[in-house]
Amino acid sequence: MYNIKQIREDFPILSREVYGKPLVYLDNGATTQKPRCVVEAIINEYYSVNANVHRGVHFLSQQATELHEASRETVRRFINARSTNEIIFTRGTTESINLLASSFAESQMQAGDEVIVSTMEHHSDIVPWQLQASKRGIVIKVIPMNDKGELLQDAYKQLFSEKTKLVCVMHVSNVLGTVNPVKEMIVEAHAHGVPVLVDGAQSVPHMKVDVQDLDADFFAFSGHKVYGPTGVGVLYGKEEWLDKLPPYQGGGEMIQSVSFEKTTFNELPFKFEAGTPDYIGTTALAKALDYVTAIGMDQIAAHEHELTQYAMQRLKQIEGMRIFGEAEHKSSVISFLVGNIHHLDMGTLLDRLGIAVRTGHHCAQPLMQRLGIEGTVRASFGLYNTKEEIDILAAGIERVSRMF
Ligand code: PLP
Repeated sequence: MYNIKQIREDFPILSREVYGKPLVYLDNGATTQKPRCVVEAIINEYYSVNANVHRGVHFLSQQATELHEASRETVRRFINARSTNEIIFTRGTTESINLLASSFAESQMQAGDEVIVSTMEHHSDIVPWQLQASKRGIVIKVIPMNDKGELLQDAYKQLFSEKTKLVCVMHVSNVLGTVNPVKEMIVEAHAHGVPVLVDGAQSVPHMKVDVQDLDADFFAFSGHKVYGPTGVGVLYGKEEWLDKLPPYQGGGEMIQSVSFEKTTFNELPFKFEAGTPDYIGTTALAKALDYVTAIGMDQIAAHEHELTQYAMQRLKQIEGMRIFGEAEHKSSVISFLVGNIHHLDMGTLLDRLGIAVRTGHHCAQPLMQRLGIEGTVRASFGLYNTKEEIDILAAGIERVSRMF
């Protein structure tokens, strides 16, 4: 059913070598490799369609506009939004969250109002709120977690007050792999009349996401983490919310009319898309979403679950192994340390064996502080990884450990 050999052939980079060793790419949490169809979509559009969108009466501009807007429809279908008006193209998760933090805080929050985030958030879910905190005096409250890496739901419920205006929480942790119970957390927030922004950077590549089923008010993700190109991402927002929020940036595309006295803004989603969009990127993103849809998100999830179970079992056999993140619901991310070996040493030596892993704080320094460590080594799996690669990783870790 799951034809891993054929899938791997779709990704030319997987057959290259580094330091004379076959590449074992286990840094999918940072970015994923691109299948041939995504790269070809970029080349084809530049070679045969390229023209600026929404502006021209000429043939190429209309064709480029059709491709760009068809991509918006592909994204809508992929996350099951009600309308393409709810799909805003951005540069990625980070820009999506900054857009929302800026527009939401400007129009919906006053000094003393509160936003709830969690201990395990990526810096991109924390720093935009700190920028707003210093500008507007808003307050950030933090959901704690247990030692397995699960958010404490009772403590979460206690954080709400009449000042709470928004919850901003990640769907899947990029460090611990924890799949947070965002659907239940959204029910709780809505019971207090509070909307929720879900950071889906690490969920969209690994599981079926349905924004209506989650009832998320806002949802952000990046194209490059789901086998698409860099430089393009998405902010989903319920239309009734997006209608209420002011534009994030000013410029072309986002206006209806401009005079020096008064400017009126364009309708959704263009109100939030100032300037020339990455229309080649959106075509390629749509190709990536079509690609994973053709394999099947449930099939991908099952494959990665099997890999993760296998890797957890295999890595736990290694002497001195400490794994961070043992949540009951865990995605395909494993963070670890072995004995006293520094994460950077482990990562550097694994690299020499052809194994690409991530080391450091993974843009989650508050989480590192909670764990009482400086950083970890992180192996994160994608749809093309195999058990053989996990064996190579385990053997590599054992070899490095013996050297220390
Ligand atoms: N949120 C999470 C959970 C992430 O893992 C990442 C990237 O690692 C981001 C946000 C930021 O994504 P980007 O750099 O694509 O904007």
